[in-house]
Amino acid sequence: MTEAKAALLGPVEIRELAARLDVTPTKKLGQNFLHDPNTIRRIVAAADLDRSDRVVEVGPGLGSLTLGLLEAVDEVTAVEIDPRLAAQLPHTVAERAPELAGNLKLVEKDALRVTASDVGEPTALVANLPYNVSVPVLLHFLETFPSLRRVLVMVQLEVAERLAAQPGSKVYGVPSVKAAFYGPVRQAGTIGKNVFWPAPNIESGLVRIDCFADAPWPITDASRKAVFPLVDAAFAQRRKTLRAALSGHYGSGAAAEEALVAAGIDPTLRGEKLGVADFVRLAGVA
Ligand code: SAM
Repeated sequence: MTEAKAALLGPVEIRELAARLDVTPTKKLGQNFLHDPNTIRRIVAAADLDRSDRVVEVGPGLGSLTLGLLEAVDEVTAVEIDPRLAAQLPHTVAERAPELAGNLKLVEKDALRVTASDVGEPTALVANLPYNVSVPVLLHFLETFPSLRRVLVMVQLEVAERLAAQPGSKVYGVPSVKAAFYGPVRQAGTIGKNVFWPAPNIESGLVRIDCFADAPWPITDASRKAVFPLVDAAFAQRRKTLRAALSGHYGSGAAAEEALVAAGIDPTLRGEKLGVADFVRLAGVA
């Protein structure tokens, strides 16, 4: 158990590190680096971690959040795709939190290709996600690591709203249902633009998922394969009734209607009215 402090990175340190590495942040990799220690502390607090949590962080970048996480838990695995940033990270941690350096494991890889053999069995995902792949990375991690009990990620505000949306909301859709498959999803705050370098064009939001400890339905490959195609089909044509939207999936409108009625769902509804439990029931996995 190590409760040492880390020297968090502020604006001056971020510029210095970037200059030393000759890094120009790229949009392609969603590189907006946090340079505000208060925001780092806010994110770590919102994740509500135990010291024994095994945290996986996607995209450590220059190490802003990594240092904050290392203060809070004894094990952090950071997955970074950019080789220059990955190579620097252990040095930054050794300089700014020498007593905690042994608690960091670095994986230089595309987060979308990460498997259990890279990361083991993390209990928490905490990350300022690269915006262009935030939802696929989030869903990939939820699928790949059933050991996760908590997720706290920063994404674009509109993505945060979509992820946490409830049935009936205008922004409720495929990501909302798929994320809710793993546990209750909620927004955990808004983050302004000026805590980043470079500042993005839009605000960011925190999303928290408390993964089911005792899931109301099986969370397996088989159940995902039964439920997720129904979700995709139901939202592929948002304006259609479920009977029409699911006719391809079931082979005909009549077959879709029969399945919907058997699951106690009105076939004239639209997909946006169904909660994840309805999709699970329709798929016959619970
Ligand atoms: N965590 C840092 C912070 O808060 O300052 C950086 C966050 S920045 C929004 C996103 C980070 O994800 C960058 O370091 C970028 O290089 C990295 N990244 C982008 N695409 C990635 C991918 N597919 N897999 C892993 N890391 C990725």
